Amino acid sequence: MSCLFCKIIEGSIPSAAIYQDELCYAFADINPQAPVHLLVVPREHIVSLAEAGKDHLPLLGHLLGAAAEIARSKDLPKGYRVVVNTGEDGGQTVGHLHLHLLGGRPLAWPPG
Ligand code: AMP
Ligand code: ZN
Repeated sequence: MSCLFCKIIEGSIPSAAIYQDELCYAFADINPQAPVHLLVVPREHIVSLAEAGKDHLPLLGHLLGAAAEIARSKDLPKGYRVVVNTGEDGGQTVGHLHLHLLGGRPLAWPPG
C-alpha cells in the first residue's frame, strides 16, 4: 500500500490529528496556506472526487459535515473555505480524496 494518506490514517506516517470518527480522519496540513489549514480524508481509499460513485454519496455528505463541525470548533467567525482539488487540472497532488479546510484570513477568488 503506497498511498500517503492511507499511511497517515493507519498511523505509519505521523500527523497532527484534529478529528476522527469511523468514516474519516482530519489532520493538519504539513504546508499550511492559512492560519487554519487541515485535511479531512475518508478512511476508505478513493482516488479523487472523480472516482466517487453514487454509493459514496453518504460518505461525501459525512466528510462535508465533518468539515463544518471542525470549522465550528475553530475560531472562524468570518468564514472559511472547503476545497476539493481533483485531478491534474484541479491541482490534486495526493491521490486519496481529501477536503481542504482553510480559514483565519481572507481568501482570494478566483484561485490561481
Ligand atoms: P492536494 O494538492 O489538493 O492533493 O493536497 C495535498 C495536501 O497534502 C497539500 O496541501 C500538502 O501540503 C499536504 N500534505 C502532503 N504531505 C503531507 C503530510 N505528510 N502531512 C500532512 N499534509 C501533507
Ligand atoms: Zn489512500
